Amino acid sequence: MARKFDAIVIGTGQAGPSLAARMTKEGMKTAIIERKLFGGTCVNVGCIPTKTLVASARAAYMARRGADFGVVIDGAIGVDMKRVKERKDGVVRQSNQGVTNWLKDMDNLTVYEGHGRLESANSVRVNGDLLEAGRIVLNVGGRAFVPDMPGLADVDYLTNSSIMDVDFLPEHLIVVGGSYIGLEFAQMYRRFGSRVTVVEMGDRLIGRDDEDVSDAVREIVEGEGVDVRLGAECMSVEKRGGGVAIKVSCDDDSPDEVEGSHLLLAVGRLPNTDDLGLDKAGVETDGRGFIKVDDKLGTNVPGIWAIGDANGRGAFTHTSYNDYEILVANMFDGDRRRVSDRILAYGLFIDPPLGRAGMTEGEVRQSGRAALIGKMMMARIGRARERGETQGFMKILIDAETEKILGAAVLGIGGDEVIHSVLDIMYAGAPYTVISRATHIHPTVTELIPTMLQDLKPLE
Ligand SMILES: Cc1cc2nc3c(=O)[nH]c(=O)nc-3n(C[C@H](O)[C@H](O)[C@H](O)COP(=O)(O)OP(=O)(O)OC[C@H]3O[C@@H](n4cnc5c(N)ncnc54)[C@H](O)[C@@H]3O)c2cc1C
Repeated sequence: MARKFDAIVIGTGQAGPSLAARMTKEGMKTAIIERKLFGGTCVNVGCIPTKTLVASARAAYMARRGADFGVVIDGAIGVDMKRVKERKDGVVRQSNQGVTNWLKDMDNLTVYEGHGRLESANSVRVNGDLLEAGRIVLNVGGRAFVPDMPGLADVDYLTNSSIMDVDFLPEHLIVVGGSYIGLEFAQMYRRFGSRVTVVEMGDRLIGRDDEDVSDAVREIVEGEGVDVRLGAECMSVEKRGGGVAIKVSCDDDSPDEVEGSHLLLAVGRLPNTDDLGLDKAGVETDGRGFIKVDDKLGTNVPGIWAIGDANGRGAFTHTSYNDYEILVANMFDGDRRRVSDRILAYGLFIDPPLGRAGMTEGEVRQSGRAALIGKMMMARIGRARERGETQGFMKILIDAETEKILGAAVLGIGGDEVIHSVLDIMYAGAPYTVISRATHIHPTVTELIPTMLQDLKPLE
């Protein structure tokens, strides 16, 4: 006999728990299913632990730079990786426990711990129980993609999940993948004291961003001693001594390779949709396994929605949470919010960080529209000089006709926060002159955004 609910949520990532809270508040008898850790990727093996580790790495970096600020530290500066991990575990535990307790104490919610699979368009099987509901929401997220690389089955490797258990200092960490996740780990482990090599297939780091941004990011990590090996081809791995060797060239006669003690794979994410029974419910996916959704997050099957990373419309915590907001706005509030209202925004949390919003310069050029560009080096900004962190720059793209902001990048101290000054004006649909005429607080990085906007040049 099936157990009947008004709604079933599969997955407790960034959207599921808030959705369950709203559904139960609306009087819906709801079930939520989690196969692993409550809170999903971000809380347990993603944003929260990585940013906590980044904070430890920054503390080590600043301690080593003490003398630059006139701070004298007598004796060697060491990093105790066990304590670094303990600190990270403590922060993660708090968040994980918060979500777990929240869900388990929620009135009108039944929590199932197990793997949920659709049996039909209105039923889900979990741990042998059959659940039925008229509304099913999939918040199943993703996992690290493990490429089909020759030799990988015979070597030990780390992913963003398993590296969370590391409580020692790898002697030489090879990071495969020069994008967001890989670079955060690369700089962090370098700061902890490992030798680090980033191996990237593309001809530059963070290939989706502009070339000047990629170059500056490369300069930042290389400046701290991270080796960057671009254009890696025909990659294969093998055990070498107690460690691993990765081949990075197709030339068999003079093999180009990197030898290290540990290997981290950071080459993208896969949606958790392969074992979800989507076929039994008739839910369509794209060629990469992402669940196809419309602008209101509905799948092709009425009564089934997909939110978060698994729908391929975003790959971030904030996009997953925004999916929850869009879904409840349409479901309960009569508010016609749409995914297409969302402006792309993300951070790269190396130090100093990159904050990005909207279009890249490359995309603006490709669009063929008349545009203006403003750029300012961080070295010109008082706050950056005072803090002795002058790497990076900020730039902004403006539509010459409408005067609206098309996109911006802030790479440098506070870049992940500063970008919101621009992002909010973009959401307001206001012209750039709203910021260029604003008086910002001195001495901050944001105060130079009006100055940058007062010196725009045509994008040629
Ligand atoms: C190392 C790393 C760092 C990151 N840093 C950032 C960052 O700084 N900022 C940012 O915005 N994003 C970051 N992200 C991305 C962010 O973690 C994800 O975008 C976000 O967690 C997506 O949330 P979600 O709701 O889609 O699902 P997830 O958080 O992935 O959760 C899905 C949940 O569903 C469960 N599940 C899956 N299938 C089933 C099933 N069949 N039955 C039951 N349960 C199931 C899973 O166990 C999981 O708990 C990072 C990711 C990684 C890997």
